[in-house]
Amino acid sequence: MPPRMLRFVTLGKEMPEKRAAAKRRADFREIFSEYSPDHAAEQAGRCSQCGVPFCQVHCPVHNNIPDWLKLAAEGRLEEAYDASAATNNFPEICGRICPQDRLCEGNCVIEQAGHGTVTIGSIEKFITDTAWEQGWVKPVKPRRNLAASVGIIGAGPGGLAAAEQLRRRGYQVRVYDRHDRVGGLMIYGIPNFKLEKPVVERRARLLADSGVEFSLNFEVGRDALLEELRERHAAVLIACGVYRAREIQAPGVGFANIVPALDYLTASNRKGLGDEVPAFDSGALDAAGKKVVVIGGGDTAMDCVRTAVRQGATSVKCLYRRDRANMPGSQREVSHAEEEGVEFVWLAAPEAFLGNGTVSGVRAARVHLGVPDATGRQTPRLIDGSHFNIDADLVIKALGFDPEDLPAQFQAPDLAVTRWGTLKIDHRTKMTSIDGVFAAGDVVRGASLVVWAIRDGRDAAETIDLYIKRKSATVTAVAAE
Ligand SMILES: Cc1cc2nc3c(=O)[nH]c(=O)nc-3n(C[C@H](O)[C@H](O)[C@H](O)COP(=O)(O)OP(=O)(O)OC[C@H]3O[C@@H](n4cnc5c(N)ncnc54)[C@H](O)[C@@H]3O)c2cc1C
Ligand code: SF4
Repeated sequence: MPPRMLRFVTLGKEMPEKRAAAKRRADFREIFSEYSPDHAAEQAGRCSQCGVPFCQVHCPVHNNIPDWLKLAAEGRLEEAYDASAATNNFPEICGRICPQDRLCEGNCVIEQAGHGTVTIGSIEKFITDTAWEQGWVKPVKPRRNLAASVGIIGAGPGGLAAAEQLRRRGYQVRVYDRHDRVGGLMIYGIPNFKLEKPVVERRARLLADSGVEFSLNFEVGRDALLEELRERHAAVLIACGVYRAREIQAPGVGFANIVPALDYLTASNRKGLGDEVPAFDSGALDAAGKKVVVIGGGDTAMDCVRTAVRQGATSVKCLYRRDRANMPGSQREVSHAEEEGVEFVWLAAPEAFLGNGTVSGVRAARVHLGVPDATGRQTPRLIDGSHFNIDADLVIKALGFDPEDLPAQFQAPDLAVTRWGTLKIDHRTKMTSIDGVFAAGDVVRGASLVVWAIRDGRDAAETIDLYIKRKSATVTAVAAE
């Protein structure tokens, strides 16, 4: 059986002992289980080279997929790596965590014909992991160093992709991040079982070796204002993501053991990275031995339920107000969670949290999906008298994220935002309402994907380069007059 089919152990829904035993044996077969060279070549060889590369069109960075599949099928892995790295700064990361079922693989012609997609993501991962093993992945060496510098706020995929592209062009690049590690949500949001942290850390080292400088534990708005960064750099890129967690309005929501998803996932990731995490050690952010209820239906919710299973929760339930077909998360993630024993409670919303200072349960009501709203999505309506209780001793709120109030945080009232609080940019130049200040990634799109942040970071690097060149040409012309 191909490794991809062997990744997950199916666990029964109400079998905590089995689940705990599985955890002890580290029995989960994770997404990073290896492809052998033969298997990768066999899979890559399934590409029909159809001539209408819908996969490439639907890949946000427009990877030249048919070409590198062909090279991989022929065993020409170094060339395959070069082709794949030409359009993507972190191919091994996208290979692991892109929702391929909605992007490249979902649009594979072979999949459409009912024969099962070419496993593009796994092959991309295999090619780049091999490149790392073989020493083909090298720090960027610009042909010449330029005096101009660019400041980047945020060391997530958007900021890092821009940093690498700008360094390639010779700019001095400094990345500021309020966290103590490089990677943004790739390091503290996405769980280790989907994206192993050494994979992110080696990219951070490569960028440092390329000459990118990092100011960590540096929060813009606290340690410097946007205006100060504008004075220090020829251009500034804001790639600071979206971090304001959406709240639930329900009685009892302030009880102990009702926690935000990102606090829960960050604690787990920090623990995995070897940090001291008192809130995990005290049990507050550890699901072991607990009845866990996760509220939400996106990828963050899926990461929470799957983390809770791995931590040894006695039961894990996911409460979502719409049905399976209307979940925002990847269907693949939902299937994985189900295989691992997570119980989904569809069409249900929390009405109140039960307990006495500490949560002991969730009172939920059944939901009916009504007429579609302006966006085309059916509006959830609570059904009167339909409530029921679910036992819980840890509730995780995973309802999504909105941007922080950046004009206030950066003391930059001229920084224009949309009605959702995301940064307004000119989509041609990627520039915000402030001259020389650009933006990329989630802070522009709202919560999105790593691969889109990479695409945005690359695009912004290109327009920043043009901006600086034009500006210095104008300065030179004025000086010559
Ligand atoms: C739990 C979770 C799971 C996800 N799983 C997936 C997945 O499987 N696949 C996928 O493609 N996408 C996934 N995503 C989405 C993906 O992680 C994001 O779309 C992507 O990381 C956005 O990149 P970014 O560079 O815009 O921002 P981020 O990755 O959020 O990075 C922003 C950085 O800016 C820093 N920052 C913020 N404010 C400041 C400030 N004032 N000063 C200095 N630094 C600041 C932050 O510390 C952070 O490091 C997931 C998201 C979450 C929350
Ligand atoms: S970057 Fe993502 S969408 Fe593009 S080919 Fe790779 S896995 Fe598919």
